[in-house]
Amino acid sequence: MATRSSGLSELRQQECRRAARDLLAQLMVGAPSEIDLETLAYKAAEKVGGLVIEDGGLDTAEGRLVASPGKGGSIRVKAGLHLGRRRFTIAHEIGHFVLHPLVPHDRQHSARDFTIWNDASEEAEANVFAAELLMPEFLFKPRCRMGTPSLALLDSLKNEFQCSLMATAFQYVHYTNEQVALVVSDGDQISWVKRAKDFWPMVQLGKIHPHSAAGERVAGKAGDSGKMVRSPVYAWLMNVENDRERDIMEDSRFHDYYGRTITLLWMKEDLSNDRE
Ligand SMILES: [Zn+2]
Repeated sequence: MATRSSGLSELRQQECRRAARDLLAQLMVGAPSEIDLETLAYKAAEKVGGLVIEDGGLDTAEGRLVASPGKGGSIRVKAGLHLGRRRFTIAHEIGHFVLHPLVPHDRQHSARDFTIWNDASEEAEANVFAAELLMPEFLFKPRCRMGTPSLALLDSLKNEFQCSLMATAFQYVHYTNEQVALVVSDGDQISWVKRAKDFWPMVQLGKIHPHSAAGERVAGKAGDSGKMVRSPVYAWLMNVENDRERDIMEDSRFHDYYGRTITLLWMKEDLSNDRE
């Protein structure tokens, strides 16, 4: 399978997901609520004394990992984080310890590190690991295939799995069989796109189109879309600049925590039916 020349390769993503599932297999987990991170942090470094989770003692960072090769260490999380963010932060730090075992760690993470999913970077690797640890395929896939695509659906999955919205969105686009794509924007610029396997059109990069719901929000003309709304295909997709007939569904929300807009695109009607 071809991978993009830049970005985290599909093969490496599979390795990160497999490492998370291998760790999780050490527990008898049958439901999302049984994914116990204290135990997993210990198991991840069991032979060398475990990773201890401590709360508080951080100013600006959300999380910090201090550990050495062949030794255990500690994960510190910012006090007062809501449960989903706390869990994602801990899972991200476990990810570094598992995936990057040959270097001493003293890493601090801010919310912005949790918006990096597509780069060929250790941050993206730890995020993919964390998503799979908290929302493993065998629990997540059947649940994500119930219900129609929307950010409200992602909210309910996020709550059930006690995770973060961006991680849930990434995992959803990976495991759904709907024709959806996730678009993450910074200000009026699209940062990255992840398409579900059946979402065949290419999504525009660069500046958010003013005729999209996300574009209207950036321009101050509207708030979050609040639900799936119709937007013209030319506002999101490549090679349809002159198509004034067809629409694509869009659900966009600005997220204070990340300082990013999260958009879920959905081809409710398969555009290939009347593709020229
Ligand atoms: Zn990291």
